[in-house]
Amino acid sequence: MAMNYQEILEDIRVEVQPLLKKGKVADYIPPLAGRSLLHFGMSLRTIQGETYSVGEACERFSIQSIAKVFNLTRAMQLHGDRIWKRVNREPSGAGFNSLGQLEAESGIPRNPMINAGALVIMDMILNHADAGEDLILDKVRALAADESINYDLMVAEAENDTGHRNRAMAWLLKAYRNLDNPIERVLQAYFRLCSLAMSCEDLVTAFQYLATGGTDVHGEIIATSEQVKRINAIMLTCGVYDEAGDFAFRVGLPTKSGVGGGIVAVLPGQYVAAVWSPGLSPKGNSLAGTRALELLTTRTTGSIF
Ligand code: GLU
Repeated sequence: MAMNYQEILEDIRVEVQPLLKKGKVADYIPPLAGRSLLHFGMSLRTIQGETYSVGEACERFSIQSIAKVFNLTRAMQLHGDRIWKRVNREPSGAGFNSLGQLEAESGIPRNPMINAGALVIMDMILNHADAGEDLILDKVRALAADESINYDLMVAEAENDTGHRNRAMAWLLKAYRNLDNPIERVLQAYFRLCSLAMSCEDLVTAFQYLATGGTDVHGEIIATSEQVKRINAIMLTCGVYDEAGDFAFRVGLPTKSGVGGGIVAVLPGQYVAAVWSPGLSPKGNSLAGTRALELLTTRTTGSIF
């Protein structure tokens, strides 16, 4: 029997309402601090191309660390397995912006989903780019089939002004010779990456290649099936800060979250889901968003387990 995703999403939207006000917005990035806690949007797109949405699924928000998946995918396309000489692929068990762990592990970031890992990955991408060239934005626009997707430069600038830990991390990476490009060049590209503004509907379209074994919505091959396996595995084990165990337990899907309150989840061979609600748990994941995904896999009785 065909799954009634629309009805399931409507039920989830109602059920998570009481959680919306319980989270806390990420206020260390000033433009995010002003976001109302009441926003909620959710979309699901099947690999057959049917899209189901509820709430503010078309409203664009700051996807923040969700963009680290695009960053990793681009680096895999450009560098293949060479990236694993400079970044590991183990859960960090520490904060996403930990300087202590990076120092203790001699400048090799634990994985590409924490900030230090994403800076190294961005550095590798920049090794292929001429000055001023952007090797990510056009790819994201193509993946999402929407040319209007863009960086939110106000957010990027605010992070440039306040992202002192990221700056410290970049200097530490440089000291360990794990950044080739000038520190400021890497930081600016990283801040822009995090400022990408996308909606839940944009995200479920853009992430299709992770549900289809590598093919995007235009039929283009974005990644090999082996690369897709690896990206999904990294999302499962490293995609939600220090809550990967709890997400596997409750949701059971590869997921990537961002401090803007977005979360993307992939059920390979079936669908991509995305949810947005700005109130975060103490560990930095959207509170209502996490519950929404838990309800989705419970109601549909489908997860990777
Ligand atoms: N731009 C944010 C930072 O560097 C990303 C945080 C996140 O979403 O994990 O702190």
